[in-house]
Amino acid sequence: MGLKIEKLSKRYGKGLFSRETELFRDVSFKLEAGKTFGLTGPSGTGKSTLGKIIVGLEKPSQGDVFYKGSSIFELRGSEKKVFRRKVQMMFQDPLDAFNPRKKIERSLLDILSLLKIPGSKGPDKIRLMLKTVGLNEEVLLRFPAQLSGGQLQRLALGRILLLEPAFIILDEPTSALDVSVQAQILQLLKKVQAREKLGYLLISHDEAVVRFMADYCGKLEHGSLSLA
Ligand code: ADP
Ligand code: MG
Repeated sequence: MGLKIEKLSKRYGKGLFSRETELFRDVSFKLEAGKTFGLTGPSGTGKSTLGKIIVGLEKPSQGDVFYKGSSIFELRGSEKKVFRRKVQMMFQDPLDAFNPRKKIERSLLDILSLLKIPGSKGPDKIRLMLKTVGLNEEVLLRFPAQLSGGQLQRLALGRILLLEPAFIILDEPTSALDVSVQAQILQLLKKVQAREKLGYLLISHDEAVVRFMADYCGKLEHGSLSLA
């Protein structure tokens, strides 16, 4: 059972001095375990907004998102907690994922303590995660600004993996990176997906990236989604 996106519409900006703008309407598709849905479309069409709605960071004007059969907007208590952990979003700028004033190790340990993972198990979990994303343990002692874009995006993925997600919304995950690093990150995303059976929503304006990654895809344009 996956994530079902059903007839989402988003309008904004109805104020005293502004008319309402419709970003998109009736957007429907499904995300499945182990598969990648590739979403393309020109910039400004609402791809990021759609991603944020699916992880529960924004509300749709109409429509619904179902996770394991329940509307994500109606989850409460422990169900809501599980959803928040299981459906994650990774952003274009990996610097956003880390507190600039904390060393990487501190940021990661803080996440584990939020998950109530016993302190004694933390370092092992982190070491294993670093191996998965192909990083040396030296990165733990650095501040975010001391790392390269590629290292940070690996860490941003690793940070999400600590939460043991089922689905990840990847919003332009390689757009801020050098071309030489982009392919490495995409390969890493594929490797991790195969191992963990993750479902991805890959948002990218780069159709080559989508072709490489996606099992099925759609284009958001002129306010609606056309499936390919
Ligand atoms: P994309 O990711 O496809 O480039 P975005 O989702 O970032 O598109 O947003 C599309 C446009 O909608 C942007 O210009 C943004 O400013 C606007 N927008 C989205 N949500 C709101 C909102 N709640 N209020 C005002 N503007 C918004
Ligand atoms: Mg965007």
